[in-house]
Amino acid sequence: MATEPADLTPALLGGVPLFDRTLYVGRPSMAPEAEVHARIQSALDRRWLTNDGPLVQELEHRCAERLQVPHCIAVANATLGLEVALRALGVQGEVLLPAFTFIGTAHAAQWLGLTPVFCDVRDADHGLDPAEVARRITPATGAILGVHLWGRACAVEALEDIARRHGIPLILDAAHAMGCGHAGRPLGSRGTVEVFSLHATKGLNSLEGGLVTTTDEALAQRIRLMRNFGIPDEDQVSCVGTNAKMNEFSAAVGLCNLDHFDDLCAHNHRLYEAYATALAGVPGLRLVAPAPGEAFSHHYIVLEVLPGAALDRDQLVRLLRAENVYARRYFRPGCHRGEPYRSRPGGPPSLPVTDRLSQTLLQLPSGRQLSPDEAQRLGQRLANWGRHGAEVAARLREAGAT
Ligand SMILES: *Cc1c(COP(=O)(O)O)cnc(C)c1O
Repeated sequence: MATEPADLTPALLGGVPLFDRTLYVGRPSMAPEAEVHARIQSALDRRWLTNDGPLVQELEHRCAERLQVPHCIAVANATLGLEVALRALGVQGEVLLPAFTFIGTAHAAQWLGLTPVFCDVRDADHGLDPAEVARRITPATGAILGVHLWGRACAVEALEDIARRHGIPLILDAAHAMGCGHAGRPLGSRGTVEVFSLHATKGLNSLEGGLVTTTDEALAQRIRLMRNFGIPDEDQVSCVGTNAKMNEFSAAVGLCNLDHFDDLCAHNHRLYEAYATALAGVPGLRLVAPAPGEAFSHHYIVLEVLPGAALDRDQLVRLLRAENVYARRYFRPGCHRGEPYRSRPGGPPSLPVTDRLSQTLLQLPSGRQLSPDEAQRLGQRLANWGRHGAEVAARLREAGAT
Protein backbone atom coordinates (compact mmCIF):
# COMPACT_ATOMS: atom_id res chain seq x y z
CA MET A 1 0.00 0.00 0.00
CA ALA A 2 1.56 3.27 -1.14
CA THR A 3 1.61 6.25 1.19
CA GLU A 4 -0.03 9.34 -0.21
CA PRO A 5 2.31 12.20 -1.14
CA ALA A 6 2.53 15.19 1.20
CA ASP A 7 1.23 17.71 -1.29
CA LEU A 8 -2.35 16.44 -1.61
CA THR A 9 -4.40 19.59 -1.27
CA PRO A 10 -7.21 19.20 1.27
CA ALA A 11 -10.67 19.99 -0.10
CA LEU A 12 -10.86 22.67 2.58
CA LEU A 13 -8.03 24.41 0.68
CA GLY A 14 -9.55 23.90 -2.75
CA GLY A 15 -8.58 20.30 -3.50
CA VAL A 16 -10.93 17.66 -4.88
CA PRO A 17 -13.04 16.07 -2.10
CA LEU A 18 -12.05 12.50 -1.28
CA PHE A 19 -15.68 11.29 -1.64
CA ASP A 20 -18.39 12.38 -4.06
CA ARG A 21 -21.13 11.52 -1.55
CA THR A 22 -21.34 12.31 2.14
CA LEU A 23 -20.37 9.65 4.65
CA TYR A 24 -22.02 9.90 8.06
CA VAL A 25 -21.50 8.59 11.56
CA GLY A 26 -24.58 6.64 12.63
CA ARG A 27 -26.11 6.22 9.17
CA PRO A 28 -28.43 3.22 9.56
CA SER A 29 -27.38 -0.06 7.95
CA MET A 30 -30.64 -1.68 6.92
CA ALA A 31 -31.69 -5.23 6.05
CA PRO A 32 -32.91 -5.69 2.44
CA GLU A 33 -36.13 -3.69 2.02
CA ALA A 34 -38.13 -6.68 0.73
CA GLU A 35 -37.51 -8.45 4.05
CA VAL A 36 -38.57 -5.36 6.02
CA HIS A 37 -41.70 -4.94 3.89
CA ALA A 38 -42.68 -8.60 4.38
CA ARG A 39 -42.44 -8.43 8.16
CA ILE A 40 -44.31 -5.13 8.35
CA GLN A 41 -46.99 -6.59 6.07
CA SER A 42 -47.36 -9.52 8.46
CA ALA A 43 -48.15 -7.08 11.28
CA LEU A 44 -50.65 -5.24 9.06
CA ASP A 45 -52.31 -8.51 8.12
CA ARG A 46 -52.72 -9.43 11.80
CA ARG A 47 -53.93 -5.94 12.75
CA TRP A 48 -51.88 -6.47 15.91
CA LEU A 49 -49.77 -3.33 15.81
CA THR A 50 -48.63 -2.87 19.41
CA ASN A 51 -49.27 -4.09 23.01
CA ASP A 52 -46.82 -6.98 23.32
CA GLY A 53 -47.38 -8.27 19.79
CA PRO A 54 -45.82 -11.41 18.32
CA LEU A 55 -42.94 -9.54 16.65
CA VAL A 56 -42.02 -7.79 19.91
CA GLN A 57 -42.11 -11.16 21.66
CA GLU A 58 -39.94 -12.74 18.97
CA LEU A 59 -37.43 -9.90 19.24
CA GLU A 60 -37.32 -10.31 23.02
CA HIS A 61 -36.77 -14.08 22.78
CA ARG A 62 -34.08 -13.83 20.15
CA CYS A 63 -32.23 -11.07 21.97
CA ALA A 64 -32.48 -12.89 25.32
CA GLU A 65 -30.90 -15.92 23.67
CA ARG A 66 -28.24 -13.89 21.95
CA LEU A 67 -27.37 -11.94 25.11
CA GLN A 68 -27.51 -15.12 27.26
CA VAL A 69 -29.82 -13.43 29.74
CA PRO A 70 -33.11 -14.88 31.08
CA HIS A 71 -35.20 -11.68 30.86
CA CYS A 72 -35.31 -9.23 27.98
CA ILE A 73 -38.03 -6.57 27.80
CA ALA A 74 -38.43 -4.51 24.63
CA VAL A 75 -39.20 -0.84 25.18
CA ALA A 76 -39.94 2.22 23.04
CA ASN A 77 -36.42 3.61 23.52
CA ALA A 78 -33.47 3.29 25.87
CA THR A 79 -34.22 6.53 27.70
CA LEU A 80 -37.61 5.19 28.79
CA GLY A 81 -35.89 1.88 29.52
CA LEU A 82 -33.52 3.60 31.95
CA GLU A 83 -36.39 5.53 33.53
CA VAL A 84 -38.53 2.46 34.00
CA ALA A 85 -35.58 0.47 35.38
CA LEU A 86 -34.69 3.21 37.89
CA ARG A 87 -38.32 3.52 38.94
CA ALA A 88 -38.91 -0.24 39.17
CA LEU A 89 -35.89 -0.45 41.46
CA GLY A 90 -37.31 2.32 43.67
CA VAL A 91 -34.15 4.39 43.33
CA GLN A 92 -34.20 7.66 45.26
CA GLY A 93 -31.75 10.47 45.91
CA GLU A 94 -28.48 10.70 44.03
CA VAL A 95 -27.31 8.64 41.07
CA LEU A 96 -23.58 8.37 40.43
CA LEU A 97 -22.84 8.33 36.72
CA PRO A 98 -20.12 9.31 34.26
CA ALA A 99 -20.15 12.82 32.77
CA PHE A 100 -18.72 11.45 29.51
CA THR A 101 -21.85 9.92 27.99
CA PHE A 102 -24.85 10.93 25.90
CA ILE A 103 -26.94 13.51 27.76
CA GLY A 104 -29.89 11.08 27.76
CA THR A 105 -28.19 8.97 30.45
CA ALA A 106 -28.24 11.90 32.89
CA HIS A 107 -31.62 13.23 31.78
CA ALA A 108 -33.28 9.87 32.51
CA ALA A 109 -32.32 10.24 36.19
CA GLN A 110 -33.11 13.97 36.32
CA TRP A 111 -36.52 13.38 34.67
CA LEU A 112 -37.47 11.11 37.60
CA GLY A 113 -36.52 13.78 40.13
CA LEU A 114 -33.27 12.02 41.00
CA THR A 115 -30.01 13.96 41.26
CA PRO A 116 -27.29 12.99 38.79
CA VAL A 117 -23.86 13.23 40.42
CA PHE A 118 -21.20 13.34 37.74
CA CYS A 119 -18.01 11.31 38.07
CA ASP A 120 -14.97 11.25 35.85
CA VAL A 121 -14.19 8.35 33.52
CA ARG A 122 -11.10 6.20 33.11
CA ASP A 123 -8.63 6.68 30.33
CA ALA A 124 -8.45 2.91 29.88
CA ASP A 125 -12.05 2.33 28.75
CA HIS A 126 -13.75 5.77 28.79
CA GLY A 127 -16.16 4.29 31.37
CA LEU A 128 -17.13 5.27 34.90
CA ASP A 129 -14.07 5.31 37.19
CA PRO A 130 -14.73 3.09 40.26
CA ALA A 131 -12.27 5.20 42.31
CA GLU A 132 -14.41 8.27 41.59
CA VAL A 133 -17.54 6.33 42.56
CA ALA A 134 -15.95 5.24 45.84
CA ARG A 135 -14.98 8.86 46.52
CA ARG A 136 -18.42 10.36 45.83
CA ILE A 137 -20.66 7.68 47.32
CA THR A 138 -22.66 8.81 50.42
CA PRO A 139 -25.77 7.63 52.29
CA ALA A 140 -27.73 9.78 49.79
CA THR A 141 -26.56 7.64 46.86
CA GLY A 142 -29.47 5.60 45.50
CA ALA A 143 -27.81 3.91 42.54
CA ILE A 144 -24.73 3.65 40.36
CA LEU A 145 -25.30 4.10 36.64
CA GLY A 146 -22.39 2.92 34.47
CA VAL A 147 -22.09 3.21 30.70
CA HIS A 148 -20.38 0.78 28.29
CA LEU A 149 -19.10 3.56 26.08
CA TRP A 150 -18.54 2.61 22.42
CA GLY A 151 -19.58 -0.90 23.55
CA ARG A 152 -16.44 -1.43 25.63
CA ALA A 153 -17.40 -2.86 29.01
CA CYS A 154 -17.01 -0.39 31.86
CA ALA A 155 -15.36 -1.60 35.09
CA VAL A 156 -18.25 -3.97 35.84
CA GLU A 157 -16.53 -6.16 38.46
CA ALA A 158 -15.38 -3.20 40.56
CA LEU A 159 -18.71 -1.38 40.19
CA GLU A 160 -20.70 -4.53 41.05
CA ASP A 161 -18.54 -4.89 44.14
CA ILE A 162 -19.13 -1.29 45.31
CA ALA A 163 -22.87 -1.56 44.61
CA ARG A 164 -23.12 -4.83 46.57
CA ARG A 165 -21.20 -3.45 49.54
CA HIS A 166 -23.50 -0.41 49.73
CA GLY A 167 -26.70 -2.35 49.02
CA ILE A 168 -27.62 -0.23 46.00
CA PRO A 169 -28.39 -1.25 42.42
CA LEU A 170 -25.96 -1.00 39.52
CA ILE A 171 -27.72 0.04 36.33
CA LEU A 172 -25.70 -0.29 33.13
CA ASP A 173 -26.40 1.89 30.12
CA ALA A 174 -25.62 -0.60 27.35
CA ALA A 175 -26.97 1.67 24.59
CA HIS A 176 -23.81 1.01 22.53
CA ALA A 177 -23.24 -2.58 23.55
CA MET A 178 -25.19 -4.84 21.16
CA GLY A 179 -22.66 -7.25 19.68
CA CYS A 180 -20.13 -6.54 22.44
CA GLY A 181 -18.91 -8.83 25.18
CA HIS A 182 -16.97 -9.03 28.39
CA ALA A 183 -15.20 -11.91 30.12
CA GLY A 184 -16.31 -14.42 27.49
CA ARG A 185 -20.00 -13.49 27.50
CA PRO A 186 -22.17 -10.93 25.73
CA LEU A 187 -22.91 -7.81 27.74
CA GLY A 188 -26.51 -7.81 29.00
CA SER A 189 -26.44 -9.85 32.21
CA ARG A 190 -24.16 -7.70 34.37
CA GLY A 191 -25.08 -5.37 37.23
CA THR A 192 -28.71 -5.29 38.39
CA VAL A 193 -30.09 -4.39 34.98
CA GLU A 194 -28.73 -3.36 31.57
CA VAL A 195 -30.41 -1.14 28.98
CA PHE A 196 -29.67 -1.34 25.24
CA SER A 197 -30.71 1.21 22.63
CA LEU A 198 -32.07 0.20 19.22
CA HIS A 199 -32.22 3.79 17.99
CA ALA A 200 -31.69 4.32 14.26
CA THR A 201 -28.11 5.54 14.81
CA LYS A 202 -27.11 2.50 16.86
CA GLY A 203 -25.51 -0.73 15.59
CA LEU A 204 -28.73 -2.75 15.70
CA ASN A 205 -31.70 -0.54 14.96
CA SER A 206 -35.48 -0.83 15.23
CA LEU A 207 -36.08 2.82 14.19
CA GLU A 208 -36.64 3.74 17.84
CA GLY A 209 -36.38 1.10 20.51
CA GLY A 210 -34.57 -0.40 23.44
CA LEU A 211 -34.11 -3.57 25.47
CA VAL A 212 -34.00 -3.92 29.24
CA THR A 213 -32.20 -7.08 30.34
CA THR A 214 -31.77 -8.65 33.76
CA THR A 215 -31.28 -11.94 35.55
CA ASP A 216 -33.76 -10.82 38.27
CA GLU A 217 -37.19 -12.30 37.55
CA ALA A 218 -39.15 -10.14 40.02
CA LEU A 219 -37.53 -7.00 38.62
CA ALA A 220 -38.32 -8.11 35.07
CA GLN A 221 -42.00 -8.52 36.03
CA ARG A 222 -42.15 -5.03 37.56
CA ILE A 223 -40.54 -3.56 34.46
CA ARG A 224 -43.06 -5.32 32.20
CA LEU A 225 -45.90 -3.93 34.30
CA MET A 226 -44.53 -0.39 34.36
CA ARG A 227 -43.93 -0.52 30.60
CA ASN A 228 -47.70 -0.83 30.16
CA PHE A 229 -49.32 1.62 32.66
CA GLY A 230 -49.04 -0.88 35.52
CA ILE A 231 -51.80 -2.98 33.95
CA PRO A 232 -51.28 -6.76 34.41
CA ASP A 233 -54.57 -7.73 32.71
CA GLU A 234 -57.86 -6.29 31.50
CA ASP A 235 -59.46 -5.73 34.89
CA GLN A 236 -56.59 -4.62 37.10
CA VAL A 237 -54.10 -1.85 37.71
CA SER A 238 -51.41 -2.84 40.16
CA CYS A 239 -48.97 0.10 40.21
CA VAL A 240 -48.14 3.38 38.55
CA GLY A 241 -46.74 2.87 35.09
CA THR A 242 -46.04 4.63 31.86
CA ASN A 243 -46.24 3.83 28.18
CA ALA A 244 -42.85 2.46 27.17
CA LYS A 245 -44.10 -0.23 24.78
CA MET A 246 -42.35 -1.07 21.53
CA ASN A 247 -44.66 -1.23 18.48
CA GLU A 248 -44.75 -4.03 15.91
CA PHE A 249 -43.23 -2.04 13.03
CA SER A 250 -40.20 -1.27 15.17
CA ALA A 251 -39.91 -4.92 16.16
CA ALA A 252 -40.22 -5.90 12.47
CA VAL A 253 -37.30 -3.65 11.54
CA GLY A 254 -35.32 -4.82 14.57
CA LEU A 255 -35.83 -8.50 13.67
CA CYS A 256 -34.84 -7.97 10.02
CA ASN A 257 -31.71 -6.09 11.05
CA LEU A 258 -30.94 -8.76 13.65
CA ASP A 259 -30.93 -11.37 10.85
CA HIS A 260 -28.01 -9.47 9.28
CA PHE A 261 -26.35 -8.16 12.43
CA ASP A 262 -23.43 -10.60 12.62
CA ASP A 263 -22.58 -9.84 8.99
CA LEU A 264 -22.71 -6.13 9.78
CA CYS A 265 -20.33 -6.59 12.73
CA ALA A 266 -17.95 -8.53 10.47
CA HIS A 267 -18.12 -5.73 7.90
CA ASN A 268 -17.44 -3.11 10.60
CA HIS A 269 -14.52 -5.18 11.81
CA ARG A 270 -13.04 -5.02 8.29
CA LEU A 271 -13.57 -1.26 8.25
CA TYR A 272 -11.80 -0.96 11.59
CA GLU A 273 -8.87 -3.05 10.33
CA ALA A 274 -8.61 -0.86 7.23
CA TYR A 275 -8.56 2.34 9.28
CA ALA A 276 -6.12 0.79 11.76
CA THR A 277 -3.72 -0.34 9.04
CA ALA A 278 -3.68 3.11 7.46
CA LEU A 279 -3.25 4.90 10.79
CA ALA A 280 -0.65 2.60 12.38
CA GLY A 281 2.31 4.56 13.69
CA VAL A 282 0.98 7.96 12.66
CA PRO A 283 2.12 10.60 15.15
CA GLY A 284 -0.64 12.29 17.18
CA LEU A 285 -3.45 9.97 16.08
CA ARG A 286 -4.61 6.85 17.87
CA LEU A 287 -7.54 4.65 17.03
CA VAL A 288 -9.40 3.51 20.13
CA ALA A 289 -8.97 -0.27 20.25
CA PRO A 290 -11.34 -2.87 21.67
CA ALA A 291 -10.17 -4.68 24.79
CA PRO A 292 -8.09 -7.68 23.68
CA GLY A 293 -10.08 -10.89 23.37
CA GLU A 294 -13.50 -9.25 23.88
CA ALA A 295 -16.30 -9.37 21.31
CA PHE A 296 -16.79 -5.94 19.76
CA SER A 297 -19.26 -4.62 17.18
CA HIS A 298 -16.95 -1.87 15.84
CA HIS A 299 -20.05 0.25 15.29
CA TYR A 300 -18.16 3.15 16.85
CA ILE A 301 -14.81 3.86 15.24
CA VAL A 302 -13.20 6.37 17.57
CA LEU A 303 -10.07 8.36 16.82
CA GLU A 304 -8.14 10.12 19.57
CA VAL A 305 -6.23 13.21 18.50
CA LEU A 306 -3.48 13.33 21.09
CA PRO A 307 -2.82 16.63 22.85
CA GLY A 308 0.05 18.42 21.11
CA ALA A 309 -0.79 17.10 17.62
CA ALA A 310 -0.13 19.76 14.96
CA LEU A 311 -3.75 19.61 13.81
CA ASP A 312 -6.27 19.49 16.64
CA ARG A 313 -9.53 17.54 16.71
CA ASP A 314 -11.71 20.42 15.56
CA GLN A 315 -9.39 21.20 12.64
CA LEU A 316 -9.51 17.56 11.56
CA VAL A 317 -13.32 17.60 11.74
CA ARG A 318 -13.40 20.69 9.47
CA LEU A 319 -10.91 19.13 7.06
CA LEU A 320 -13.01 15.94 6.96
CA ARG A 321 -16.30 17.78 6.34
CA ALA A 322 -14.78 19.36 3.23
CA GLU A 323 -13.86 15.84 2.05
CA ASN A 324 -17.58 14.90 2.50
CA VAL A 325 -16.94 12.96 5.68
CA TYR A 326 -19.26 14.05 8.45
CA ALA A 327 -17.22 13.01 11.50
CA ARG A 328 -18.81 13.54 14.92
CA ARG A 329 -17.52 14.80 18.26
CA TYR A 330 -19.25 12.59 20.82
CA PHE A 331 -19.65 13.67 23.60
CA ARG A 332 -18.96 17.35 23.59
CA PRO A 333 -19.18 18.97 26.05
CA GLY A 334 -19.50 16.51 28.95
CA CYS A 335 -22.96 16.18 30.55
CA HIS A 336 -21.77 18.26 33.52
CA ARG A 337 -21.43 21.20 31.11
CA GLY A 338 -24.96 20.91 29.69
CA GLU A 339 -28.13 22.39 31.20
CA PRO A 340 -29.61 22.08 33.72
CA TYR A 341 -26.48 20.64 35.32
CA ARG A 342 -23.96 23.39 34.57
CA SER A 343 -26.14 25.97 36.38
CA ARG A 344 -26.33 24.01 39.60
CA PRO A 345 -24.83 25.72 42.67
CA GLY A 346 -21.04 25.61 42.58
CA GLY A 347 -20.93 25.17 38.79
CA PRO A 348 -19.69 22.11 36.90
CA PRO A 349 -17.24 19.88 38.81
CA SER A 350 -13.67 19.51 37.61
CA LEU A 351 -13.51 16.27 35.60
CA PRO A 352 -10.20 16.34 33.75
CA VAL A 353 -10.45 13.08 31.81
CA THR A 354 -13.99 13.85 30.62
CA ASP A 355 -12.94 17.35 29.58
CA ARG A 356 -9.91 16.08 27.70
CA LEU A 357 -11.78 13.28 25.91
CA SER A 358 -14.58 15.66 24.91
CA GLN A 359 -11.95 17.82 23.22
CA THR A 360 -9.84 15.12 21.59
CA LEU A 361 -12.12 12.31 20.28
CA LEU A 362 -13.86 12.07 16.96
CA GLN A 363 -15.91 9.28 15.40
CA LEU A 364 -15.43 8.04 11.85
CA PRO A 365 -18.05 6.55 9.52
CA SER A 366 -18.89 2.86 9.85
CA GLY A 367 -21.57 0.56 8.47
CA ARG A 368 -22.72 -0.54 5.03
CA GLN A 369 -22.41 2.95 3.53
CA LEU A 370 -18.70 2.45 2.90
CA SER A 371 -16.34 -0.33 1.83
CA PRO A 372 -13.11 -1.37 3.56
CA ASP A 373 -11.31 0.08 0.56
CA GLU A 374 -12.90 3.47 1.16
CA ALA A 375 -12.12 3.25 4.87
CA GLN A 376 -8.51 2.64 3.95
CA ARG A 377 -8.46 5.69 1.65
CA LEU A 378 -9.98 7.81 4.39
CA GLY A 379 -7.49 6.41 6.90
CA GLN A 380 -4.63 7.21 4.51
CA ARG A 381 -5.84 10.78 4.13
CA LEU A 382 -5.93 11.17 7.92
CA ALA A 383 -2.49 9.56 8.13
CA ASN A 384 -1.20 12.04 5.57
CA TRP A 385 -2.53 14.94 7.64
CA GLY A 386 -1.03 13.37 10.76
CA ARG A 387 2.41 13.01 9.18
CA HIS A 388 2.37 16.49 7.65
CA GLY A 389 0.32 18.20 10.34
CA ALA A 390 2.55 21.25 10.79
CA GLU A 391 2.59 21.93 7.05
CA VAL A 392 -1.20 21.54 6.68
CA ALA A 393 -1.75 23.73 9.77
CA ALA A 394 0.46 26.44 8.25
CA ARG A 395 -1.48 26.32 4.98
CA LEU A 396 -4.78 26.53 6.88
CA ARG A 397 -3.46 29.61 8.74
CA GLU A 398 -2.32 31.24 5.50
CA ALA A 399 -5.73 30.61 3.95
CA GLY A 400 -7.45 31.97 7.05
CA ALA A 401 -9.20 28.60 7.40
CA THR A 402 -8.18 27.72 10.97
C1 LIG B 1 -28.38 6.68 22.28
C2 LIG B 1 -28.04 6.65 23.72
C3 LIG B 1 -29.01 6.67 24.73
C4 LIG B 1 -30.47 6.90 24.42
O1 LIG B 1 -31.02 5.91 23.64
P1 LIG B 1 -32.48 6.12 22.99
O2 LIG B 1 -32.87 4.76 22.54
O3 LIG B 1 -32.30 7.09 21.86
O4 LIG B 1 -33.38 6.67 24.04
C5 LIG B 1 -28.62 6.54 26.03
N1 LIG B 1 -27.32 6.42 26.37
C6 LIG B 1 -26.35 6.42 25.45
C7 LIG B 1 -24.93 6.26 25.88
C8 LIG B 1 -26.67 6.57 24.09
O5 LIG B 1 -25.69 6.64 23.17
